[in-house]
Amino acid sequence: MIYNDKLKMLNFEYLKNLNDAQKKAVSHLSGPLLIVAGAGSGKTKVLTSRIAHIIKQKKAYPNQVLSVTFTNKAAQEMQNRVSKILKKEAIGLSWLGTFHSISAKILRRHAGAVGLNSNFSIIDQNDQVRLIKNICKDRNIDIKQLAPKYILSVIDGWKNKGLYPNKTIASKKNILEKGILAIYKIYQKKLLDLNACDFGDLILHCVYIFENNNDILGIYTNNFKYILVDEYQDTNFIQGKWLNFLTKKHRNICCVGDDDQSIYSWRGAEIKNFLEFDKVYKDTKIIRLEKNYRSTQNILEVASKLISHNQNRVGKNLVTTMESGDLIKLNCYKNGKDEAIGVSDEIEKKLKKKNSLNDIAILVRAIFQTREFEERFLKIGLPYRIIGGTKFYERAEIKDCIAYLRLIYQNKDDLSFERIVNVPKRSVGDTSIKEINKFSKKNSFCLENGAKKLIELNLIKPKTKLGLNSFLNLISKWRNDYSIKKINHVKLLQIVLDESGYSAMLKNKKDLENENRLENIKELLVAMKEFDNLESFLEHVALATSIDQKWDGEKVNLMTMHASKGLEFDAIFLPGWEEGLFPHQKSLEEKGDKGLEEERRLAYVGITRAKKNAFISFSMNRYYQGDWIDSMASRFIDELPEQNIEKNNFFEEKNDDDFEFNQDFETDKETRSPGWIRYLKRIK
Ligand code: ATP
Ligand code: MG
Repeated sequence: MIYNDKLKMLNFEYLKNLNDAQKKAVSHLSGPLLIVAGAGSGKTKVLTSRIAHIIKQKKAYPNQVLSVTFTNKAAQEMQNRVSKILKKEAIGLSWLGTFHSISAKILRRHAGAVGLNSNFSIIDQNDQVRLIKNICKDRNIDIKQLAPKYILSVIDGWKNKGLYPNKTIASKKNILEKGILAIYKIYQKKLLDLNACDFGDLILHCVYIFENNNDILGIYTNNFKYILVDEYQDTNFIQGKWLNFLTKKHRNICCVGDDDQSIYSWRGAEIKNFLEFDKVYKDTKIIRLEKNYRSTQNILEVASKLISHNQNRVGKNLVTTMESGDLIKLNCYKNGKDEAIGVSDEIEKKLKKKNSLNDIAILVRAIFQTREFEERFLKIGLPYRIIGGTKFYERAEIKDCIAYLRLIYQNKDDLSFERIVNVPKRSVGDTSIKEINKFSKKNSFCLENGAKKLIELNLIKPKTKLGLNSFLNLISKWRNDYSIKKINHVKLLQIVLDESGYSAMLKNKKDLENENRLENIKELLVAMKEFDNLESFLEHVALATSIDQKWDGEKVNLMTMHASKGLEFDAIFLPGWEEGLFPHQKSLEEKGDKGLEEERRLAYVGITRAKKNAFISFSMNRYYQGDWIDSMASRFIDELPEQNIEKNNFFEEKNDDDFEFNQDFETDKETRSPGWIRYLKRIK
């Protein structure tokens, strides 16, 4: 084959360890190219080798290659890999980044075309919410009825579809949508007045500029001789259009992706971009990579079997280059705490074998799940990091709850006072807090006493006085109820959350983030139950948060399955495979079968992060959403092929109705939940 002969002659180190299909993908340099391949087949490797090859072959200068990926972390990784191959030649590779970062760069150069100055600000979510709140206030819209974050999610959905307000058609029947469209119009106008744009605008404005300014578009279409996109299956409509414009002249677009790993539909990803690529780009060459270099045969077979239950997929063969390896361990635990102990025991075994903690990851479905593991790791002194998230006790809502508890515990805790005096809002703004601070300092009071005195002396604005007074009264009441043992520490927090309006604040604004926050708080209540009193709990939290937070060094990795895309680890733990948690109830409720298939793709992503070992687990009982529930093993467990699985014998089955646990578990009738019995029946 000619291309192979040519490549052999070139004899570049980076080409030597590629297989034939990969070489073909790297060396096919003219026209549209789609690489469709399963997990771990070297898609990202091909992409980075291809960038290097284009430059080494002098097909383009580094600044003529546009490489787009999904996250900053992935972009960094790509940059490192290319630099490793190209060394000095990688200098000038200035168009490698995420859709957002590259769009921001283009937009700064041509901001005038959308009425902005080039020094425009990019506003974050907090500013977006503030802006929407102001608009709602002006229009007398009650944000308790229509949450700003919900409004923003609708607007973002329109932006992902490429719709400016004047192009958006709200459904006539949908009054809510009509209202949001009116807000959208004002919001865009205000952004312009502020010389600002939000994240969605970065791409939307670029597309508008490309569409309406041939001269500007020409600069980029002439310049970008090669365009490469990783994780293409998760691009949305506007990103697809953005790419389409930039590819117009040279048409050398190479996208890599895996339909089985499409897991971001909730952020507007459209699998259509991927499935209809060859319709949009005529003469597309499609290359399939069918060898997996990451995972053992057992891991791959389990993942492949599981994903084969999805109806909507292209379907592909994937064979591993690795040996069969260990069986996948399927562990059943009594409860979440035991699951964390079981996982940490396995990790300690790996440590004894001199495995690196950096090569181990725990992937959860919902972020609140990290808490149980964090507690365990803190207890046994196992260092960990959370990728793409915050450690449990550092999450804002958890810190708020802890601040309430600390202040109740002792009134001198000024930091806590400052943190929560106006959360939820009580008309005690920054200026009032400054006044309280000044007065208290002058008179050597703690802030709580200072505030009381200011009220007594009538030195505070009436509106602020009202809010502050009710806050101070509540704190005194809670403190008293706890000290006379009317309530215990867990009940205390429940009452605080109710009476302070904190829970209502989160519940009123329904969005994914607030739902995560509520789940985290429920998990905090679970954590508190493990302590006898407030004092011992607060001490535990103080110790937990003082542990070193450095990123480097040897640490176990914890993250959500969503955040694990594109990454790989020697050993992967997948806990909490229980109905309701995984597949997640919300996904099923909101999106039915489509939701279920997306959850299954998540499972596929999770399993295929593992190189050597995968541990799937579930527990029979879980304290979830404030109650002990009998959990039922995830339906995905039924879909795993028996021959590749080792079911752990935490019990010995005697007969259908009578079985006993081994020494790890009590033989307690209580624990024989329907879910458990169902599981036993299933695994027979
Ligand atoms: P994902 O779908 O998870 O993003 P991917 O298809 O992008 O996976 P890569 O991350 O590029 O896969 O590669 C998976 C692993 O296989 C990496 O460790 C990579 O170095 C290795 N690999 C890829 N191709 C080869 C090859 N030809 N020879 C040896 N190792 C390879
Ligand atoms: Mg990849």
